[in-house]
Amino acid sequence: MIELHGTGVSSGIAIGQMVAFSEGKETVSRNIGTPEQEWNDFLSAQEITCAELSHLAEKARKDAGDEAALLFETHCEMAQDPDFCDCIKELTDSGKDAVSAVMEAGEQFAAMFESMDDAYTKERAADIRDVASRICRILRGESEDFALSAPSVVIAEDLSPSQTMQLDKSLLLGFATRKGSPVSHTAILSRILGIPAIVGLGDKLLSDFAGKCGILDGIEGKLIIEPDTETLTYYNETKAAFDAEKAGLSALIGKETVTKSGKRTKLYCNIGSPSDVDKVLSNDGEGIGLFRSEFLFLGRDSAPTEDEQFEAYKSVLEKMDGKPVIVRTMDIGADKKADYLGLSDEENPALGLRGLRLSLEHPDWFKRQLRALYRASVYGNLSVMFPMVANVWEVEKAKDLCREVQIELKMSGIPYCNTVKLGIMIETPAAALISGELAKIVDFFSVGTNDLTQYTLACDRQNGSIAPHLDPHHPAILSLLKMIAENAHQAGIPVGICGELGADESLTEFFLAIGIDELSVSPSCVLPLRKNIRNQA
Ligand code: PEP
Ligand code: MG
Repeated sequence: MIELHGTGVSSGIAIGQMVAFSEGKETVSRNIGTPEQEWNDFLSAQEITCAELSHLAEKARKDAGDEAALLFETHCEMAQDPDFCDCIKELTDSGKDAVSAVMEAGEQFAAMFESMDDAYTKERAADIRDVASRICRILRGESEDFALSAPSVVIAEDLSPSQTMQLDKSLLLGFATRKGSPVSHTAILSRILGIPAIVGLGDKLLSDFAGKCGILDGIEGKLIIEPDTETLTYYNETKAAFDAEKAGLSALIGKETVTKSGKRTKLYCNIGSPSDVDKVLSNDGEGIGLFRSEFLFLGRDSAPTEDEQFEAYKSVLEKMDGKPVIVRTMDIGADKKADYLGLSDEENPALGLRGLRLSLEHPDWFKRQLRALYRASVYGNLSVMFPMVANVWEVEKAKDLCREVQIELKMSGIPYCNTVKLGIMIETPAAALISGELAKIVDFFSVGTNDLTQYTLACDRQNGSIAPHLDPHHPAILSLLKMIAENAHQAGIPVGICGELGADESLTEFFLAIGIDELSVSPSCVLPLRKNIRNQA
């Protein structure tokens, strides 16, 4: 992974394969004529140039409005500028061929613009160079044959406004250049078109990057080449949030999640670390419905201490400022293992010592986490939930340990909140089938549809080759969801969904119909889902 820094000139994020812009020159040799012939050749090329620019102006007007069109109209005026033309005439009269004369005149005018103090006027140097090279291209009989064939992030030495305009906007995800400045017309154009762009990346931007995956962050001015999975996930999220905002969803920030008939649903977020809270807040998540606390234990050499855990939970609660936060106790096991825990290999880890089973097997680890949670509980609105429940006795045992921890804290004079709600994940068919019993002993349910689907359909969620069988829309899953909701409501407790299915908008109507009280989804899904719910009858 390589990260380059430049100046972000048009915000937004583009992710895709990089393509190096080439000018597609196929130099055709010109026969140089008399000064008069050279001047006449210039006049013909000037005419074609203006025709091309008028066509581009019309295209720009359609794609990006009058401001963009004006750019090309200005280029056309430059091509016809009397001083510029006089300069070319003088040069052809003195024996220069038309191409050299146009280039030299273009450079003279560019140097004049560059000598100005005003940054905007300085940038007009690029415009006159663009015009001059267009005239020269026509004089040489060269074509503009660079075209995109797939959605791409274009990388280039520099891009002129006309080169930018000629690129197919439906395929241009973003562009990054070695040169350029924020007030160049290309930068202005990128903003008008709403195409993420970075300029001034310098010599480290290599055409060798073509063909590789790139993330163009026009907000931060960063180009990331061959991102690792974590970075890619982060940017996919950030891009989704940005795009959602752009699509006008930001108007829904602060609005209620309520159907037309007045039925309210809570829209919470799933997080894996305290740093994810920023995304929850920027997407207007109403709470955290699933903090996968096991991520605090992974990717390190030893278990987090009670204090480290306390700090993590406290920081999430404080940042959420009184909004509900549901922390799931460590769901270690199956695909989430840490070497330092010394867990033995299992034939079928998804059916092995996982989640609450593991916590109950190691009450010292479990109580350390519960102590950290109760200590943090005074900093916000905390609920705790247990994963991978299959039996009533497991929940009773977990609740006993919670009581023990509270007594110990009380005896040590450490403050904790004694109204922390205790809930469970319903993610085994067993828990779903005995949800009537379980509902009597907990404060809430949250359905883990990822595991409920895997265990109900006997389909390993890690095994891509059987992915088509892992169907969360299966009637068995939908009827279990209905049963869980009915049992929860009969006992007077709320039920949420924190598996990926919660964000599946094709089921939103169904979730509302069966009375799901809360959906916990990735932060980027909050606003689209709110929009959907607000459109429901
Ligand atoms: C689930 O199983 O649906 C869930 C939310 O938990 P995880 O994906 O972490 O197993
Ligand atoms: Mg699960």
